[in-house]
Amino acid sequence: MSSPSTPPGRFGPECDLCEAAHITPWYHEDDLCWIAECEICRVPMVVWRDHGTDPPSEALEHMTEALHRVADEQLGAHYLDGNMRNIPDHYHCHARPEGGFFGPKTRREM
Ligand SMILES: [Zn+2]
Ligand SMILES: [Zn+2]
Repeated sequence: MSSPSTPPGRFGPECDLCEAAHITPWYHEDDLCWIAECEICRVPMVVWRDHGTDPPSEALEHMTEALHRVADEQLGAHYLDGNMRNIPDHYHCHARPEGGFFGPKTRREM
């Protein structure tokens, strides 16, 4: 058996989102996306499984729905923040508590 244990080098090692490290709680996972707590903001964040910034509209709709569902449970009233500050070349979207930026576990002022 000589199957390589490393995934195809399609994305490069630099992309944290492609790496999909389970360093924070995961809320949801499927073929299109995963939703985990953002380690910086402490809010649910949906991440597309493909490396790119332009998901097809069905994928976008699917991810938005899934994120709303998780955010309803985790945050209650929330809004979606599609601003990709840290990783601008891989689609992801944060859900943030209404009127706030960070999740309830961080009490940091902006
Ligand atoms: Zn990526
Ligand atoms: Zn974040």
